[in-house]
Amino acid sequence: MNSYIDDQSAKPVDPRVIEAMTPYFHERFGNPSSLHGEGDEATKVLEGCRRTIAGFMNAGLDEIIFTSGATESNNLALIGYALRNKGKGNHIIISEVEHISIHNIAKYLEKNEFTVSKLPVDQYGKVNLHKLESRITPETILISIGYASNEIGTIQPIAEIGQLAREKGIAFHSDTVAAEGLIPLDVVRDSIDLMTLSSNDIYGPQGVGVLYVRKGIRLNPLIIGGGQERGVRSGTENIAGIVGMSAAVEIMGREMAEEVKRLAGYRDKLIKHILDRIPKSHLNGHPTDRLANNAHFRFEAIEGESLLLSLKDEGVSAATGSACSSKTLEPSHTLISTGLLHEEAHGSLEFTFGRFNQEADVDRVIEILPPIVERLRKLSPLYKKEEVTT
Ligand code: PMP
Repeated sequence: MNSYIDDQSAKPVDPRVIEAMTPYFHERFGNPSSLHGEGDEATKVLEGCRRTIAGFMNAGLDEIIFTSGATESNNLALIGYALRNKGKGNHIIISEVEHISIHNIAKYLEKNEFTVSKLPVDQYGKVNLHKLESRITPETILISIGYASNEIGTIQPIAEIGQLAREKGIAFHSDTVAAEGLIPLDVVRDSIDLMTLSSNDIYGPQGVGVLYVRKGIRLNPLIIGGGQERGVRSGTENIAGIVGMSAAVEIMGREMAEEVKRLAGYRDKLIKHILDRIPKSHLNGHPTDRLANNAHFRFEAIEGESLLLSLKDEGVSAATGSACSSKTLEPSHTLISTGLLHEEAHGSLEFTFGRFNQEADVDRVIEILPPIVERLRKLSPLYKKEEVTT
């Protein structure tokens, strides 16, 4: 039996989504910019998908821009907004626990005459509203805070951040990728101006995403060409991919409430049993304000990589940090931001459950992880020393 419990890194495409997409690779291949029947049909399909996706986040039809995924949406939101609005100010605020793409976009903007404040977070990875307010200056034009951490699962106070930004007349961007399919999204409720979504994170195909752009928010395009997507994002639309994302949204809309309950049950069972059975184990991230699918642990005196390899030998796939940076030897910037030492961050292990997991996957980890930790600790000089001194 193989147990894949690393949904935050990549998700399989739902077979129902593949079925919806298939005709758009051959029978229904038209280009929405063409003026013949096939083109008209493609336009109709594109606009239907736009309506479905807009409805799921309480947005208007003309507020949805299709992109190639979350990274592009984040680039368009931050760079597109900063360049278009630099006459208003040159200061941007992000948090320390943002996805690596936001951090690297921030670095790019810093090289291009913007200043970026990185807001510290508490021990659970949560942003503090008073601290956020204290960083706002007359030069601040944009705040970018992700809805929830893709690593430790902590959910941010998004509606409150949105309200603060709106009161101060500052644009608010949120990368919602980690929360998609787990929290109902609503751009009006949360006062969001720019919002990043990805298709694969709701079991749609890779290579498709959306940037929600509130009416009245102006962006410089980053991809210039034939003027598609109202000139904000040129390039022939990926119709099959967009149909896939739209089908994924429809399935998610029908199933999310039940699914969240099921996944939270797996998460809570795993957290309880692991913390009870393994001495010197800790939970990373917020104890209650956390994503329904996320269980993120820290085990003293062992390396996350050794744990991963031992789990891999048993057919269990988990993660030590963000998949986007897990091939580097650097500890996760998110864990370090919560105040962990490098060696503590290195002893971390992340499980993210998803649509295709079953309770048997949870039971399997509960059964095999305690002896793996015990065996690795026996080999760890660090642990022996600790036991002697305590
Ligand atoms: N934002 C977050 C929160 C993510 O977890 C990821 C990776 N899934 C991205 C952005 C980037 O997504 P992609 O690599 O699909 O563009």
